[in-house]
Amino acid sequence: TGLVVAMDGPSGSGKSSASRGVARALGLRYLDTGAMYRAITWWMLQRGVDLSDQEAIAVRALEPVLTIGTDPDAPSVAVDGTDAAGPIRTTEVTAAVSAVSAVPEVRRRLVAEQREIIGAGGIVVEGRDIGTVVAPDAPVKIYLTASADARALRRTAELAGTTVQAQKAAMARRDSLDSTRKADPLAMAADAVELDTTALNLDEVVAEILRLIKE
Ligand code: C5P
Repeated sequence: TGLVVAMDGPSGSGKSSASRGVARALGLRYLDTGAMYRAITWWMLQRGVDLSDQEAIAVRALEPVLTIGTDPDAPSVAVDGTDAAGPIRTTEVTAAVSAVSAVPEVRRRLVAEQREIIGAGGIVVEGRDIGTVVAPDAPVKIYLTASADARALRRTAELAGTTVQAQKAAMARRDSLDSTRKADPLAMAADAVELDTTALNLDEVVAEILRLIKE
């Protein structure tokens, strides 16, 4: 099918696991747009680009070549042919990504690539601006939320060597940067369904989204 499911929400709301679960259940592809912003950020950090300088980011925004795999069982991302799945999840990249994703030239480039991937057929797409900017015509739009404590707890369980307090602070900072930037900020589309996952486990979240899709 050519179904497009838009999944937005703040960090730690459970978007990735839920999106992959829904894609798997429906035989759809899966696109992690956050991985694309992270991959560009990793490339810029490696090259010593000054990330406090929007112009410095903008002039190099088109240089890194991204290759994105959309299998929900084995999502992949490579930059200039090098596998980047591990390095894009480091705390260094996580702390720097909001500065890079705020630059309009970076967004313009990635939104165009995302639309091209989406155009190839049915897909679950997760990010911050999918329902509002990338795929405003998507027939199904979900906005996942969860309490700050629940989100920090989930992220802490995923990562080694961090504390709930540190995660809560890092996520609050990133969500604030992502929702207050000028270019395509994190926002819920007017026609999205908000789903609070604080008290739900992954199976319950996936089941609820599948129910919303069938409606
Ligand atoms: O989803 P994830 O936490 O991996 O996203 C990393 C970062 O990429 C976000 O904090 C945000 O700055 C940026 N992002 C974005 N727009 C998207 C997806 C991610 O700006 N559609």
